[in-house]
Parts: sequence; C-alpha cells; structure tokens
Amino acid sequence: MGKLVGGNLARGGRMVRHIAVAALAVALLASGCSRTAERPAGRSSSGGTCSWSVYFSPHGGCTKAVVNALDAAKHSVLVQAYSFTSAPIAKALVNAHRRRLDVRVILDRSQVTQKYSSADFLLHMGVPTWIDSAHAIAHNKVMVIDDATVITGSFNFTKAAEEKNAENLLIIRDKELARRYTANWWAHERHSERYRGKGMF
Ligand SMILES: [Zn+2]
Repeated sequence: MGKLVGGNLARGGRMVRHIAVAALAVALLASGCSRTAERPAGRSSSGGTCSWSVYFSPHGGCTKAVVNALDAAKHSVLVQAYSFTSAPIAKALVNAHRRRLDVRVILDRSQVTQKYSSADFLLHMGVPTWIDSAHAIAHNKVMVIDDATVITGSFNFTKAAEEKNAENLLIIRDKELARRYTANWWAHERHSERYRGKGMF
C-alpha cells in the first residue's frame, strides 16, 4: 500500500513536472521571441518579428557579443553608457563611426572626471558624444543598432564587467522595442550637453 502511495506520488511528481514543462513551453510561445537569430523568428508583442540572445559574465562572451553586433551594424548606433572603459568596445564603436555609420553616444557625467576618459577618447576620435547630467546617475547601458536591435542589461561597457563582475547582457532583435529605446535615447539627448572637452565642466 505504501508502495502504491509512493507510486502515486511519483506519478504525481511527474505530472507536476509535465505541467510545468508544458506551461514553460506555452509561456515561451506566448512571449513570441525565439532564442537565437538562427531559429525562425517569433512574433513580438507588437506583431513584428523578434529574437534574442543572452550572455552572462564573468567571461561569458558579453564583450565579444557587443563587438560582433557593432561590427555587423549597417547604418546607425545609439549608445547610452554609465561606465565605459572597454577598449575592444570603444574600438568597435570608432570603427563603426569610420565606416560612416551614424554613431551617437550619451555618457554619465562621471565619465568626464577621469584622467583620460571614454568621453575624451570618443571626442578625439570624432564620435558625437553628449554628457547627461540631469540625473543622480545616468545608469543606462544600452545600444540601439540599425533601428532594429537593442543591447541592454546590467553589463557596463568595461573590462571589469567582462572579467570580474556578475552581469547579464541581453541582445533583442525587435523593431518596436528598438523604436521605444530610440525615443528614450532622444529624450535624454534633449537635456544632455554635447561634449567638447573637460573645459566645459
Ligand atoms: Zn537623461
């Protein structure tokens, strides 16, 4: 009898697992996003297509994913960064600017006070850069590429975020989402100051 009860419990457990798996599958289908660009794209909440990739640091390939996305960019890159010290990401951004893409960067004001900051580097490389001083901290870590791809998450564009920190980076290909992030980028640009060197602060 005890064995039978145990069997029922075991079957019950399996049933719970089956229900959980089915619920997860339904949730993923309902979300409309496929996991990678290689799979057939799903439908986004706006009715368009979307897909996503996710990366976790340390050493989870976040920097490489950002660099690859920038290298593949065709016409535009909008950036919001809090801390920006990653040489590979800065180089990929400058390369995109040199390929005559429309590259624009908004940085937190803390980036100006460093001895040789990312703001100075981008300024010297000719990348249009703004400083957002309107908040306690401008803490966004966002890139919008070609009006179609959003890169975001906790991942700062820094060496420490890649090598030492626990961070996440999400790359979402969804034009409606990109439109929302683009509108937010311009909302911050309106109260930001164009960076022209340390003398302006
Ligand atoms: Zn702002």
